Amino acid sequence: MSDFRYTVHPARVVFGSHTLADVRPEVERLGRERVLVLADPGLPELGDRIREALGHLAVGRFDGAAMHTPVAVTEKALALLREVAADCVVAIGGGSTTGLAKALAVRTGVDQVILPTTYAGSEVTPVLGETDGGVKTTRSSPDILPETVIYDVELTRGLPLDITVTSAVNALAHAVEALYAPDANPVTDRLALEAIERIARALRRIKADPGAEDTRADLLTGAWLAGTCLGAVGMGLHHKLCHTLGGAFGLPHSPTHAVVLPHALAYNAPHAPDAVRRIGEALGSPDAPAALFDLLVETGAPTSLRELGLSETDLPRAVELAVAKPYPNPAPLTEDGLTGLLRAAWAGERPT
Ligand code: NAD
Repeated sequence: MSDFRYTVHPARVVFGSHTLADVRPEVERLGRERVLVLADPGLPELGDRIREALGHLAVGRFDGAAMHTPVAVTEKALALLREVAADCVVAIGGGSTTGLAKALAVRTGVDQVILPTTYAGSEVTPVLGETDGGVKTTRSSPDILPETVIYDVELTRGLPLDITVTSAVNALAHAVEALYAPDANPVTDRLALEAIERIARALRRIKADPGAEDTRADLLTGAWLAGTCLGAVGMGLHHKLCHTLGGAFGLPHSPTHAVVLPHALAYNAPHAPDAVRRIGEALGSPDAPAALFDLLVETGAPTSLRELGLSETDLPRAVELAVAKPYPNPAPLTEDGLTGLLRAAWAGERPT
């Protein structure tokens, strides 16, 4: 038996195909009348569609979100939000655009309606990571949690294959680490296993037909469930390493998750045997770390930190940062152990 404390985060979720059309009724449901639209800089046409769907409720638009939520960008958007007196933000795009919505909400109390177009899962967490002067800090607050999430499978059918795969592994990572989290509970366990099964099934089918509705629905459902785990329980070594590699060395968010996950799982496996067995069952293999690695190779995802641009000479500093502050993790965090892990991830070795 394990003790636990579990807080269910209140959020409304609308899921389906062509649900973008629900954006106006959802804003009205919140009683909001003045919307600042935040559109992913890579998806301006989706910003246009949101503006059109909102009609006179849209009073401004900002398309400048950037990876890791730089405070300087938030300040620009905040000035616009105040100028147009917005009482709500509607964000459409990847995790970076969701991050900007959260950064505005925590500063002003505006409501958030989020339409995610990747599988990052940020839309269902009360967590915000921000960067200022090259330093990434993370905070958590109920004010950060978006009020409404509209999942529209149609918005993800054209997500390029490379981003699809790495973003899906980003979601897998939330579910994997939820299963060995110190505050795991029966609800998050079930959500995490369902997420892993759906995401793994979809990744096996994605190359054959990247736009297939069922595959995309599995990925988006998996992302929601995995993101819910991320918002509910503490993450371990894998997330800490990715946070360090992204914040200190500028490595891209989801590709870094893809490379590190099999190695972090292999590192933790001897100390979390039950969780790793269940992860293996959900992946359909008795060797979860190797099965994950093979899935990455099959789908053409990056498998080494070297190919993401990390220099071998950066490894000692990365280890130093990763062990600097203690945090809960099944396996003890030793300098030798993490050096071995990062060397294998840097070189792209299959975990054994
Ligand atoms: P992202 O938002 O930067 O998007 C990656 C790329 O995909 C961008 O170029 C974007 O324009 C493009 N893109 C997005 N959707 C697309 C679509 N449907 N079609 C074509 N191109 C599309 O990256 P991400 O991986 O979604 O999110 C990463 C960010 O989210 C990081 O800043 C990370 O820290 C944050 N994050 C936060 C949490 C949290 O709980 N706070 C959780 C996960 C991620």
